[in-house]
Amino acid sequence: MKRVKPAKHVYGEDLKKKIIHPPNEEDELFFSKLPIYPPYQIYEYKGNPLIMATGLIHASLEEMTTVEKLQSKAGVASHINPFSEENLLEDLANVNIKDEQTILDFCNKYGLFGFNIDTGGPKSLTSPPEEVEIKEKAFVNLYEELEGFKNHTRVLQELIRNFFIEIPKVQKEVRGKEDFKKINELNELRRGSSRLLNRGLKLVSPGLNFDNGKLLPSFTSTTMLGAAFYQLYEAITQEKQFRRCLHCNSLFIPRTPNAKFCPPLHFGKHSSCQNSYNQMKSRARKAVKEKGRTVEDVAQSIGRPAKEVRGWF
Ligand SMILES: [Zn+2]
Repeated sequence: MKRVKPAKHVYGEDLKKKIIHPPNEEDELFFSKLPIYPPYQIYEYKGNPLIMATGLIHASLEEMTTVEKLQSKAGVASHINPFSEENLLEDLANVNIKDEQTILDFCNKYGLFGFNIDTGGPKSLTSPPEEVEIKEKAFVNLYEELEGFKNHTRVLQELIRNFFIEIPKVQKEVRGKEDFKKINELNELRRGSSRLLNRGLKLVSPGLNFDNGKLLPSFTSTTMLGAAFYQLYEAITQEKQFRRCLHCNSLFIPRTPNAKFCPPLHFGKHSSCQNSYNQMKSRARKAVKEKGRTVEDVAQSIGRPAKEVRGWF
């Protein structure tokens, strides 16, 4: 997510116009660096399924008395800044919480939501940083409860559905009508969803980022969940959309106004969903034109509605 931010025009104490130049790349606005320890596995610990860094599975958790001991068993971490992961929201929208493999695939890419942070209770602001901050960071992404992970995914997926599919749908239905029941329903949906979103945004906080010798106004979160909520907040306030891919039915954020398919993996390349769809289309045309099969028959064999297949001729 490397968007250039516009300069901000403000008036100083002398009432003269000043121009503040924010960081060139939005990346610098977010200074979270979270460790991840792939591959993760689902492991039942005392009857409670956990998503856990593989290295910890055969280690006895009781013996892991210090963060350093835990981390050394978990293996070598790679680091990500979840705020700048461009596909985080889309990947989250498409996690199937009934399928443990898709959960693990997601965690191997982005880590866990970050909900096993043990800060040992509230600490005084004057405590040495190694007692608070280091511990907070060190615990992230080693393990967390599977059930908690599913619940958080469910909440985010519900919010994506509400903001990008349900609310626009009901909005369309009430347009130009005085259907007060529907208008109430719409307002309830907006109010409830905003409240839930705001609760998640509390995981994100403003902070000063001292980097490359400069002090930069920034945002941070010690959890990937915070970054996901922030990305959702940005998508809503920047009036982005979610659409369903015509080929695989996944939710995606369109990069161009007419996009119908999941975006390509790399900018400027072809979308693999679009390629597969076009191949299917040309095979279907051949089957009808050269092999004399009916449109309905072909539609059924490829599992697409006949109406859609008719549109290909
Ligand atoms: Zn797709």
